[in-house]
Amino acid sequence: MLEELYQKVVEKDPAQPEFHQAVKEVLDSLEVVLEKHPEYRKARIPERIVEPERVIMFRVPWVDDDGDVHVNRGFRIEMNSAIGPYKGGLRFHPSVNLGILKFLAFEQVFKNALTTIPMGGGKGGSDFDPKGKSDNEVMRFCQSFMSELFRHIGPSTDVPAGDIGVGGREIGFLFGQYKKLRNEWSGVLTGKGLQYGGSLIRPEATGYGAVYFGEEMLKTRGETYKGKTCLVSGSGNVAQYTTEKLNQLGAKVVTLSDSSGCIYDDEGIDAEKLAFVMDLKNNRRGRIKEYAEKYKNVEYKPVDPELDYNPLWNYPADCAFPSATQNEINTRDAQNLINNGVYLVSEGANMPTVPAGVDIFLENKILYGPGKAANAGGVSTSGLEMAQNAIFSSWSREEVDQKLHNIMINIHAQAKAAAEMYGDPTNYVLGANAAGFRKVADAMLAQGVV
Ligand code: NAP
Repeated sequence: MLEELYQKVVEKDPAQPEFHQAVKEVLDSLEVVLEKHPEYRKARIPERIVEPERVIMFRVPWVDDDGDVHVNRGFRIEMNSAIGPYKGGLRFHPSVNLGILKFLAFEQVFKNALTTIPMGGGKGGSDFDPKGKSDNEVMRFCQSFMSELFRHIGPSTDVPAGDIGVGGREIGFLFGQYKKLRNEWSGVLTGKGLQYGGSLIRPEATGYGAVYFGEEMLKTRGETYKGKTCLVSGSGNVAQYTTEKLNQLGAKVVTLSDSSGCIYDDEGIDAEKLAFVMDLKNNRRGRIKEYAEKYKNVEYKPVDPELDYNPLWNYPADCAFPSATQNEINTRDAQNLINNGVYLVSEGANMPTVPAGVDIFLENKILYGPGKAANAGGVSTSGLEMAQNAIFSSWSREEVDQKLHNIMINIHAQAKAAAEMYGDPTNYVLGANAAGFRKVADAMLAQGVV
């Protein structure tokens, strides 16, 4: 029956391969869950959960600094609100399309259910590319985007945040326009600046969370990060704070990347070098290649479209933290990681490993934390930001970090317990999907056919 449902999903929207991939992974995990819970089947929960509650698609016209008019496409996928308001990031990247955002919104539903905070799942964004645009162009784009989106969101309805291409600058412009149009200050976006309702630790949260999740996996083998060598991909928000936390916990990070290439620094990307990367990426908006120009004994490998593997995943290491984008680890990369001694993969990015790569990790019984569990720290801290906004208060850095840490410990425990309950104790994919699904499915059952 689930195979039949999967075929229907593919037939209905044949041009959405990333969405098919995300759906298949969850449906595969659900076989064992539905065997024990025929009530979900009877209420057609699987059929309902793969269909977004609402999809909003709109024109975003804007004017560049030369006075030329451009048109992009804007989206918001309101996937599931059974356990709370829709919640999930906005992505601005030229690759954005409906299928990619549906995959992200679908993943978000299960991820948010694991956080222990009442949040439904959503995702949105645009095919706008902020790279190479002036601050004023980005502002005009964000204002135009929000001039439509504001009708559909609200602090108890739908609360977007950042994702690829949407950081503090973009959230500020989006928030300003929302406030102007609604004539109200509310916690309608998370990832805000500290001066206007943002939460301490929100920028750090996804990266820190992926490291905390990995720490829990290591504990099951009585190990810590001390002395471990780690591969990190990307050099944006998630990659930067993954690197920072790994450094704090005594590990050595040797790689970073962007869409043009990757660097390998055998001596490790310490705090001083990381500060250089943060300035390069967050302020100067430059390329990671400059790291190899600045520091000695660093290898830089530009992206080579002829290669069928990514050299970043082919260095000897203990742990890997994919923190760039979807499907960045192909089958060969997964095998290279195993061959080079990696036995922990904690996914900061969403769905960074192709399905056959995930199979390789599971067959080799490495510690593999799938994105929807391992990178849930970001949305969890967004939930904490919403809570602080709702009570007009702000918590200290230590308090938020402690709460984030506890949430990641809890997510790990839930995924592990569900994996054990459904008969495959080391399989966090099964555990995260089953635990997340059950929470949403029970809420849907309780609320009737809506
Ligand atoms: P970001 O700050 O925009 O950084 C993204 C990084 O990945 C950049 O270094 C970018 O390089 C690289 N990248 C993006 N697309 C790429 C592609 N197609 N090929 C190669 N490299 C690419 O975004 P982020 O917030 O760190 O997000 C990274 C991942 O984490 C995404 O999968 C996102 O969905 C996931 N995530 C983020 C959060 C969050 O709170 N931010 C929460 C959960 C999950 P260029 O600069 O060259 O494009």
